[in-house]
Amino acid sequence: MDLLIVDGRIAERRVPEKGRGAAPDGRVIDATGHWVCPGLVDMHVHLREPGQEHKESIESGTRAAAAGGFTSVACMPNTDPWNDGLSVTEYIVAEARRKGMVNVFPIGCVSKGGLGVELAEIGDMVRSGAVAVSDDGRPVGNSHLLRMALEYTKIFGIPLIDHCEDANLSASGVMNEGFVSTLLGLKGIPGASEEVAVATDLAVAAMTGGRLHVAHISTRGSLEKVRRARQEGVAVTCEATPHHLVLTDQSVADSRYDPNTKMNPPLRSEEDRQALLQGLLDGTIDAIASDHAPHHADEKLVEYDEAPFGIIGLETTVPLIVDRCVRKGGLAPARFVELLSRNPARILGIKKGTLAVGADADVTIIDPELERMVDVSQFKSKSRNSPFHGWTLRGWPVATVVGGRVVHELQPVASR
Ligand SMILES: [Zn+2]
Ligand SMILES: [Zn+2]
Repeated sequence: MDLLIVDGRIAERRVPEKGRGAAPDGRVIDATGHWVCPGLVDMHVHLREPGQEHKESIESGTRAAAAGGFTSVACMPNTDPWNDGLSVTEYIVAEARRKGMVNVFPIGCVSKGGLGVELAEIGDMVRSGAVAVSDDGRPVGNSHLLRMALEYTKIFGIPLIDHCEDANLSASGVMNEGFVSTLLGLKGIPGASEEVAVATDLAVAAMTGGRLHVAHISTRGSLEKVRRARQEGVAVTCEATPHHLVLTDQSVADSRYDPNTKMNPPLRSEEDRQALLQGLLDGTIDAIASDHAPHHADEKLVEYDEAPFGIIGLETTVPLIVDRCVRKGGLAPARFVELLSRNPARILGIKKGTLAVGADADVTIIDPELERMVDVSQFKSKSRNSPFHGWTLRGWPVATVVGGRVVHELQPVASR
């Protein structure tokens, strides 16, 4: 399959003819043996700007996205200040246009300041470019507020993305509650902390008819609830992260309390991980998102209990999923494209995730055979908090094209 790109759009798709030369003035990328995917969409990243640019900025975060094979990202609103009204949304859109290497779609708050008390200026934010609402970093928590938000977002046709967690159940926990946490003497966060919130959200979504998206789903029980609710007609989708698909709470022990294994929701049990893999294959999980959460090295270089939750993920998502889920886990490349491009675009209602003629020329080229070592010192992100440093993985993005422009190239793929 050949793709012809003219003026930033897909102009033609055709079967290559023998002996046909390249366009006289155009550039040709020979992607023989590679996957040519519609540009990948990461629907859950933290870009930290405004307010925490020492961790990441829109410029560095989108550079990391491009290096990781993503042509679009949706950024969570827990910035400083939180993105709960027109001015922050407008700032993000403008800054992304000026300095962004890839497309940036802001996610606005559900509640003012993410405090869970009063609804944020949802209408204003949607008109300024917000594609979803979420208080991620925190659960919405207040079910009455959740009800109002789901009713309100229905008017705009956007999803409400919830970080499902019962704060009372997970209070002061730092890792998954189970055998390993007992062994390590660390305070646990039970799976029920997520499942209680998922159950509440599903009931409220069913009542309102609003569109619910469960962020970073991590337990077998949560998945079963989503599966059942969907059968009953509830408008619910969910995402899983590469780290929950690849690591378990045993990694906390194996890493000797490395704070780069500390995230929220925490790494779960092997049984949960297997359930997530099953959810990828059977379609219960709609999308894979990195939950890219940059933290400065000084903040992570403290005792496990004290370290902030979260790891970066934009530059390791593709190789982790290709190596562990496609090559070794039976995930079909076509499902890979659904999970990382088509579905997140559909959930967010953005015109991405396709290589149809006339679509924006956002293209990700992946070499499924390329083997490389993860080296955080080479990352474009400003932060280095990854548990995957030193891992050797096979299957890396080699070129990222946004609107017809090559924004990242690993090694010129025999171009002329
Ligand atoms: Zn979250
Ligand atoms: Zn997050």
